[in-house]
Amino acid sequence: MARIVQKFGGTSVGDIARIKNVALRVKAEVDRGNQVAVVVSAMSGVTNQLVDYCTQMAPLHDAREYDAVVATGEQVTSGLLAIGLQELGIQARSWAGWQIPIISDDAHGKARIESINGAAMIAEMEKGHVAVIAGFQGIAPGNRVSTLGRGGSDTTAVALAAALKADRCDIYTDVDGVYTTDPRIVKSAKKLDKVTYEEMLEMASLGAKVLQTRSVEMAMKHHVRVQVLSSFSDARGTLVCDEDEIVEKALVSGIAYSRDEAKVTLIGVQDAPGIAAGIFGPLATANINVDMIVQNISRDGTTDVTFTTPRADLERALKVVKDSMKVPYKSIDTDKAVVKVSVIGVGMRSHAGVAQTMFKALADKNINIHIISTSEIKVSVLISEEYTELALRALHTAYGLDAA
Ligand code: ADP
Ligand code: ASP
Ligand code: MG
Repeated sequence: MARIVQKFGGTSVGDIARIKNVALRVKAEVDRGNQVAVVVSAMSGVTNQLVDYCTQMAPLHDAREYDAVVATGEQVTSGLLAIGLQELGIQARSWAGWQIPIISDDAHGKARIESINGAAMIAEMEKGHVAVIAGFQGIAPGNRVSTLGRGGSDTTAVALAAALKADRCDIYTDVDGVYTTDPRIVKSAKKLDKVTYEEMLEMASLGAKVLQTRSVEMAMKHHVRVQVLSSFSDARGTLVCDEDEIVEKALVSGIAYSRDEAKVTLIGVQDAPGIAAGIFGPLATANINVDMIVQNISRDGTTDVTFTTPRADLERALKVVKDSMKVPYKSIDTDKAVVKVSVIGVGMRSHAGVAQTMFKALADKNINIHIISTSEIKVSVLISEEYTELALRALHTAYGLDAA
């Protein structure tokens, strides 16, 4: 007998027929004699609708009430799935975040899980009952409902798998695994049998939405065996695991993209010690993430500094630059129509020339690179958004990733 956490995403629970289909998949696991906890997302589109309601009430709203609103989507599906399981003769009940409890910090809207007490749930599961958990939510200090950031049900599932000491965490979604790049954009993308925690972490944080970044961090930390698979087919999925479990390591295992970027250029900044600190200090104080940075060579004692921020934070970043930054500059330029494209692979550690292949492939398609950044296992470039698909396809071919 194994203890398994299954997670079903928004498309998988998109309507009543699909929730009934999920109930059958859960039953199959129960029939194999396993203890099962199931985490569900809201029906696809519901969270967006709830977010939109909050914005319509007030563009700048109380984050605690936003959480109270957006957490409801998952409560609906957890109750419905419990009913579906009961209809199949399985003893099941729903659990909201606060009932378990899943304790989080108070960063409403993007709260972090601090602890999970799995005791009550384990006691039920040992009686053969299925626990159906509303994903994406927890309970914050002050007894307030919290949510874990968009895509957060993945993190609920992995955190729960760690807390319950589950043998496996199966993430069921609308594609049948992790691919070399988004299979909806590049048709020749290949499914990976296995991917390392490290690569998956980079892919997720660089834009591959198939797993929330924090869920991968959590899996890596607690050695949770995560499998990504389809709720619509029985195809074998992708296992996220330690590097030593992978025999054949590819040089580049994936290409990710993120449209969540905006570029800011400060033109005519003085080229002197302390300037970078003077620019980025106020942004850090305002809790605005700065990702890629480039500073031009100084010509006449002045220079241009370009950086990227999340697109959603651009207006706030500009306000900080104008109101709180003390560094003088001549003018400011912004661009929202940019995309960050990244190639990722642990093989890069031991091989030269990976970045050059990227630059050449983009040059051959006449795609201009605005900013470059690298780390041990990835190279990222910022380019104009209109070239996203062209760049992804060109890079996929250049690294020999196209499916035969
Ligand atoms: P769920 O609702 O099940 O959580 P998501 O929409 O969050 O599903 O994530 C699945 C989607 O991730 C896929 O439909 C696919 O378009 C996208 N995706 C992006 N990059 C990749 C990748 N490298 N491999 C697989 N899917 C990817
Ligand atoms: N329903 C939430 C969202 O759309 C959480 C999730 O699906 O994982 O972001
Ligand atoms: Mg998701």
